[in-house]
Amino acid sequence: MVRDQEGREVCCQYCKNKDLEKDGKSKQGKQKYQCRSCKKYGTVDNTRFYSEADQKKLLGLNNERMSLRAISRQFGVSRQTLAKWRKKKTGTAS
Ligand SMILES: [Zn+2]
Repeated sequence: MVRDQEGREVCCQYCKNKDLEKDGKSKQGKQKYQCRSCKKYGTVDNTRFYSEADQKKLLGLNNERMSLRAISRQFGVSRQTLAKWRKKKTGTAS
């Protein structure tokens, strides 16, 4: 069983099986695993997943003058993540 940073059980990103075997760490320090079911390798992504729609919604709040800090606090998204999305959307690092 492999768990992520927040202690949630990780399932295979390919077949969703939870029977995983730890396989060391990647260069970026992410936990790697091999799935015992489909034999594929994957990494545990410790960043929570947000869909495009979620990103748009949160960035929309930012456009409505809600600060990144406030959004971060309210939705539990790190400010770095928000800034990254914004950069991706607008192409600026401001
Ligand atoms: Zn699998």
